[in-house]
Amino acid sequence: MDVTDHAEELASDLGVDKEEVTADLRNLLEYSVPLDEAKQSVRRKHGGGGGGSGPTPSSVDVAEITTDHGNVTVTVRVLSVGTRTIRYQGDEITIREGELADESGRISYTAWQDFGFEPGDSLTIGNAGVREWDGRPELNLNESTTVAVADGTVAVDHEIGGDRKLIDLAAGDRGRNVEVRVLEVGSKTISGRDGETEITEGVLGDETAKLPFTDWQPRPEITSGADVRIEDVYLREFRGVPSINLTEFSTVTPLPDPVEVAEDAPRLSVADAVDSGGMFDVEVVGNVLEVRDGSGLIERCPECGRVVQGGQCRSHGAVDAEDDLRVKAILDDGTDTVTVVLDDELTAEVYGGGLEDALAAATEAMNKEVVADAIAETLVGRAYRVRGNLSVDDYGANLDAETFEIATDDPADAARAALAEVAE
Ligand SMILES: [Zn+2]
Repeated sequence: MDVTDHAEELASDLGVDKEEVTADLRNLLEYSVPLDEAKQSVRRKHGGGGGGSGPTPSSVDVAEITTDHGNVTVTVRVLSVGTRTIRYQGDEITIREGELADESGRISYTAWQDFGFEPGDSLTIGNAGVREWDGRPELNLNESTTVAVADGTVAVDHEIGGDRKLIDLAAGDRGRNVEVRVLEVGSKTISGRDGETEITEGVLGDETAKLPFTDWQPRPEITSGADVRIEDVYLREFRGVPSINLTEFSTVTPLPDPVEVAEDAPRLSVADAVDSGGMFDVEVVGNVLEVRDGSGLIERCPECGRVVQGGQCRSHGAVDAEDDLRVKAILDDGTDTVTVVLDDELTAEVYGGGLEDALAAATEAMNKEVVADAIAETLVGRAYRVRGNLSVDDYGANLDAETFEIATDDPADAARAALAEVAE
């Protein structure tokens, strides 16, 4: 079904003009509103249910807001304000995003104009739209919304302001401030909508963690080894891990004192690591249960690097495949499992030989599987400490190993310790 089909269905449901519904739907999709939400919003606009939209919505507690509310009035404290420019219907619009809270709970918001409020302000916000974002209600502050200073200070249990340690950042966060050391930095040319653009990428660290970053407007203060305070960044998921994004509104201030950087990666139970939804530089300890298919001596497409079977790439058809070494091992620490992926170098270490040795062994046995079998014999049933980048998607959790070492401590103990920490 394409947009027109959805529009047709909606138009006939609502008994309104199809062209109008199509235009509304396209507008919403253009600014990346998910389809289901866009349909719901069009339905609401044309009076097809999904909540009332009376002129004076009643005052509600934040915790009571559901996506069934059309519009609400809330009295809240501003927790954070992030600024970002997005393209909407061909125009560049500067939006503010962040979180609001009252005693009952907190909610994220998007403001389509600058209402001038700052973190810590207590406000009464009238006629804010409610939309669904990521499965949760979010407030939409637009031209029909009123913002006034509240009578008295709204007490909240949440942290006010955007200052955070790296370990506490998650994809979707807006208006965050960090104090970090620039650990790695490099520039890259990308083709954007306005032609070729230079961006900066790298890794930032503080005493709690490390995270990758992208500076879309490269600035000179971001150099290798620099200690800086960066204000107003947002986080998005990139290759399965949270990534810090600097925009034209982010500010970078050199810090007088060096920022302490964690040598070690945070050690988590597999369950906690997987629950985080993806982590850059994390350490887990567990037993290898199994070496999966697609391990040992494998073949890759020379064009895209994907693993091919029988010389056939899914994207490039018949190719002159290149031999490579890899391991995909299932690691279990008693809380959950994760697939650990070893590159050619780490695979050579656990195999005890490089690509030439593996090819010779396969030729002698007239069977490629002998390489994976030998690796399985070494790994299965033994405990390993793995450090690397964890990505989690619908197909499972993958930990791209940077280091892979025999664990000297018992993983069951480590898992119990991690569980006990959670239970406290
Ligand atoms: Zn290919």
